[in-house]
Amino acid sequence: MTASESRRTTWRDHRPEPGPVRDTPPTFVGMPAFPDAARAALDNAQQRHNLHHATHTIRDKRAGVVDEISNWQELRDAGADAKQEALTHLAEHLEELESNLIAGGATVHWARDAEEANQIVLEIARAKATEEIVKVKSMTTQETELNEALEAGGIDAWETDLAELIVQLGDDLPSHILVPAIHRNRSEIREIFRDQMGKVGRPAPEGLSDDPAELASAARLHLREKFLRAKVGVSGANFAIAETGSLVVVESEGNGRMCLTLPETLVSVVGIEKVLPTWEDLGPMLQLLPRSSTAERMNPYTSMWTGVHEGDGPQEVHVVLLDNGRSHVLGDRLGRQALRCIRCSACLNVCPVYERTGGHAYGSVYPGPIGAVLNPQMRGTETPIDKSLPYASSLCGACYEVCPVKINIPDLLIELRGRVVEQERPNAESAALRAAQWVLADPKRLGAAQKASNVVGHVVRDRTIRGVPGLGAWTSARDVPTPPTESFRQWWARERGTSA
Ligand code: SF4
Repeated sequence: MTASESRRTTWRDHRPEPGPVRDTPPTFVGMPAFPDAARAALDNAQQRHNLHHATHTIRDKRAGVVDEISNWQELRDAGADAKQEALTHLAEHLEELESNLIAGGATVHWARDAEEANQIVLEIARAKATEEIVKVKSMTTQETELNEALEAGGIDAWETDLAELIVQLGDDLPSHILVPAIHRNRSEIREIFRDQMGKVGRPAPEGLSDDPAELASAARLHLREKFLRAKVGVSGANFAIAETGSLVVVESEGNGRMCLTLPETLVSVVGIEKVLPTWEDLGPMLQLLPRSSTAERMNPYTSMWTGVHEGDGPQEVHVVLLDNGRSHVLGDRLGRQALRCIRCSACLNVCPVYERTGGHAYGSVYPGPIGAVLNPQMRGTETPIDKSLPYASSLCGACYEVCPVKINIPDLLIELRGRVVEQERPNAESAALRAAQWVLADPKRLGAAQKASNVVGHVVRDRTIRGVPGLGAWTSARDVPTPPTESFRQWWARERGTSA
């Protein structure tokens, strides 16, 4: 299928009827609060089974390769320190990165938000008179919803990472940082390939089974023609090295290497928090990331490039440095540690909440524990979903234990919960708690309150108090204990003959 043919009939034109394997919404916008979304996800027994199997497999493997390293905790410290230093002096490092990128022949663009970033990519693609681009797996462009923006501008964006391809062909949403199709099993993937591949390019082979090697081979054949045809490639970056203006992408499949080297033009959309001051800082990252994410000692493909090199790779290189709420997070002394995240997904794989609800319930491309702290900070806590995310945790602390850059997610969750409560308008519950605080702060006030309570105790006697006006949410499911007719202090004073 040629580019112009794919323009006439895109994969979205052939969006399948809702069915058992694709009943999820096509965008995260307007997602309900976490408890509602989680309740719906919990009803999906197949998904729960898929998630349990996948997360336990990855977490066990991760534990094995981490145990091999005697200085893992020192490595974690080094990783956390490098990222923290980069964030503390982010402005200087970004300026250094920009000037070295330009010196290497790249064009640097700054994007305040997702819309600006998408517009920049769209204009570059239009200038190349292309109707399609190929993409490396990129959380940042998922965050900006680049594919949808390009599609609205008449350009098809083809995902080339296997799991992203499954999500795209299935008209689905990613549910995991590293394994976006973690909620799918092999037979579901085979159905997606058989139904959808032929509508947007080379069809799946006849008689395709659900054997992983066969599925990977079908994806490879399907993608190869897109790689060879594309004039523009789009990537993110795992790290950006300020001292030389170099970008780094780590991946497992080799599709990224194809996107980064075959097209004439390469556009990399990079969150500003990805900057590392020096190459030395990259050392611990390349040990921490593969072990924490894919449970590998070393990731199979590490691509590093610095600007343009004549006759070698893309001859036009653009880097879009994206803020999109990151400056706001950076301004928060406690919250800024969330920007240390290297998107390894280890916290997702050990989280008992994520394991049961899956990623869609978090209403963002960043699900799991890191999503529960990053989304409310980057997007604010105005919507039901962002307000509810800090509560999407049992606070067991497993996420902090495995985080390679030591982000204290439980602390952040508690802090964010406090902010959500503060943000809510005063209500009867908070008024009652403030009154209790005032009474408990002074012995005389406490004594007076106890005497008043004794009066209530005399009136009510053995009857049960079933509801307190204004405290319906608390007392609808709990009986209020009947106040005693005599307080401990009164009893003590009576027994000892002293004043209460
Ligand atoms: S918060 Fe830590 S464990 Fe979770 S994805 Fe980020 S770096 Fe990995």
